[in-house]
Amino acid sequence: MNRRSIMTQEAMKKVIAQNKKNCWHHLTQHSAYDKDGAAPMVVVEGKGMRIKDANGNEFLDAVSGGVWTVNVGYGRESIANAVRDQLVKLCYFAGSAGSVPGAQFAEALLDKMPGMDRVYYSNSGSEANEKCFKIIRQLAHLEGDGKKNKIIYRDRDYHGTTIGALSSTGQFERKAQYGPFAPGFVELTNCCCYRCPFGKKYGECNIECAHALEDLIQAEGPETVGGIILEPITAGGGVIVPVPEYFPIIREICDRHGVLLHIDEVVCGLGRTGKWFGYQHFDVVPDMVTMAKGVASGYAGISCTTTTEAVFDRFKADPSDKMHYFRDISTFGGCTAGPAAALENMAIIIRENLLDNVVKMGDYFSDRLFELKDKYEIIGDVRGKGLFQGLELVKDRTTKEPVDESVAAGVAGHCAAKSRVIIGRTNRSFEKHNNTLAFSPALISSKTEIDEVINALDLAFADQK
Ligand code: PLP
Repeated sequence: MNRRSIMTQEAMKKVIAQNKKNCWHHLTQHSAYDKDGAAPMVVVEGKGMRIKDANGNEFLDAVSGGVWTVNVGYGRESIANAVRDQLVKLCYFAGSAGSVPGAQFAEALLDKMPGMDRVYYSNSGSEANEKCFKIIRQLAHLEGDGKKNKIIYRDRDYHGTTIGALSSTGQFERKAQYGPFAPGFVELTNCCCYRCPFGKKYGECNIECAHALEDLIQAEGPETVGGIILEPITAGGGVIVPVPEYFPIIREICDRHGVLLHIDEVVCGLGRTGKWFGYQHFDVVPDMVTMAKGVASGYAGISCTTTTEAVFDRFKADPSDKMHYFRDISTFGGCTAGPAAALENMAIIIRENLLDNVVKMGDYFSDRLFELKDKYEIIGDVRGKGLFQGLELVKDRTTKEPVDESVAAGVAGHCAAKSRVIIGRTNRSFEKHNNTLAFSPALISSKTEIDEVINALDLAFADQK
């Protein structure tokens, strides 16, 4: 990293202490705040795919900001300049009005999403998903007696942190102890072939995981089910890629029962898998698509809920009916910094041909992960798409018994401490959630960085033996 921090070592020490004393961090065990606990990391700067912490340690970031976010890499001055220029011109006006970057980004985005026609702005993935739940529920009231309000979600998917989004989340570690949840959310089983919930093998399974939706809708009563939310590729639940038949079957069932198909692209959105969106790998056009993290690569807060014109049109009504419109509001959904950053973020992806890079580097990454699988018995499965990859760790390849949680943590810790490479882990191995290491390096990755990640893993697995 060639930029030097202008803070003195003394000042940095103070920041580390302030951080430990005053902040309450995401997903952090409280031992970190104990007197003798290792202080939570403070990240100071980033360039390309590398970050530096307050102690001056440099790391290769193989998870794009920890949570699949900084897709175009750190230190992009063109995005910073676009945001700065926009903020000086107009920082904000409520989202009931338009803005120049908001209008321009909506058109640019929809151009990449054939079949989608409208963009609704908000601030986070959770919030974008909540908009869809509200759309589904309001339509149930506008078009009927309000009963067609149930929303189906899958048992290993994550859709956000708010109570509505958590109600639609299947992950025990995120969800347990935060109830009671919102009513009307119904769980469908996952589609992980490696641990088929139906005990079947692909090729002989008749894609039961998809047909299970029909059974669930019948059990609930088709007149009560308004929508389904699905990650195109499950992220935190274990990097689960559905088989090609999965989404077309889901689409057909939804169409037959008037159920809106909502795809949550918060992780896959904008290039991570080698296409603009994860669902575009599968033969499906959803009714609603949500996105957040990769929309502006973390340079500004923005999320989008996109819908078809058909969904939008269902809110059209006699103007004398004062309640017949989407009565949702989000203060910062009108911020201009988000779409200004998003426009330049998308321009970078196009200018630098990053989708092609993701396809090429994703194949290379996957090949190298399979090489590791040949070498280490502990790797039960390699799966992913593009620069979104996972390794599931097992005690025994035949029984597929998951490794203890400490093993996955140990591998990640080894990579960070010994090789200065940050990798991710999906949820802990409660119930169906198994220990999967997750990788989502920036879309600018080259073979050099991927080899660095592989070498770090190689060393870590060798030390586990
Ligand atoms: N949906 C998915 C698939 C996610 O992975 C996340 C966050 O990790 C969310 C939604 C929630 O996004 P946010 O944290 O921006 O609310």
